[in-house]
Amino acid sequence: MLDATEVPVILRRPHIHRGYRPLHQPTRYYYKSAFSAHNECLNVWTHFAPLFFLLYYYTYPELLLDSPRFPVLLLHFGHIVLYLGSSSAHLLHSRSPHDHIFWFIIDFAGIAIFGMSIGLQRYACESDLNPWIDWLYLPSLFMVSLLGQFFSSCALFVHHPFWKGRAIARMASGLFVAIWLYLPIIHRYTDPIESDDMSVHTRAFTWLIVSGIFMGGNFPERFFPGIFDVVGYGHQLFHLCVNMMGWNLLYAADRDCAASSGNPWMQIFQWRNFLCLITIIISSIIVIQTIKILTKKAQEKKYD
Ligand SMILES: [Zn+2]
Repeated sequence: MLDATEVPVILRRPHIHRGYRPLHQPTRYYYKSAFSAHNECLNVWTHFAPLFFLLYYYTYPELLLDSPRFPVLLLHFGHIVLYLGSSSAHLLHSRSPHDHIFWFIIDFAGIAIFGMSIGLQRYACESDLNPWIDWLYLPSLFMVSLLGQFFSSCALFVHHPFWKGRAIARMASGLFVAIWLYLPIIHRYTDPIESDDMSVHTRAFTWLIVSGIFMGGNFPERFFPGIFDVVGYGHQLFHLCVNMMGWNLLYAADRDCAASSGNPWMQIFQWRNFLCLITIIISSIIVIQTIKILTKKAQEKKYD
């Protein structure tokens, strides 16, 4: 494995000195590297292992129900895209600076679809929606999550990867999206009804804030450079916190989404489910087009 000084600046992690995989190896080298010690290994597994946990303990039982709930499956879809995008990015980005840019745009895309799926599930399952939220939430979620966060994160990454304010801008827009995701259920905090327990939603938000501290603050490696190069640095802890947040979200969705009945396919034609389906399809198409355009732009640039 290489030291930080032996890889291009764009591939270096702040305060991580060792454990970098060599560049320009065949793709199978990076796949095999999932089973060797380097500074991305745990980032791969902390988001790949939960994928199986999700599929086995949540998605499969949901599919076995007489009528699987569409909003719950939508949330699972968001988790699957997040975990696949993130684990692939950490596994394959080290081959070259351009691979790095491409794979982390894929990672950002997974985060965007994950965020949208949380908002959509809450919107679809909430029985007592404010009429304003009912009409305006989906377009606003689209604007905040895709335009506000995904486009800005990707564009800054491709055009200004070394700008010092980039991490702060990403965290600020991420926090704004996270708050926006609570709009469909916020009235349950301000106007609680008996027996409604919001603690699981609060825990999900708390894990998100803690995850942001580890990711944005590069903690603990900032204070002990070189000590946590392979195990225990902030991004790995960030992944674990995201898993805890995801776990709380899955639990909350299972509780908040009422059991459905009848033909599961007909659920798609229920008004809110249908709008959510259209929103996620359009968002996915826009995200894929953005990946194509920005990858092309990145190919024209030179990164060191
Ligand atoms: Zn990551």
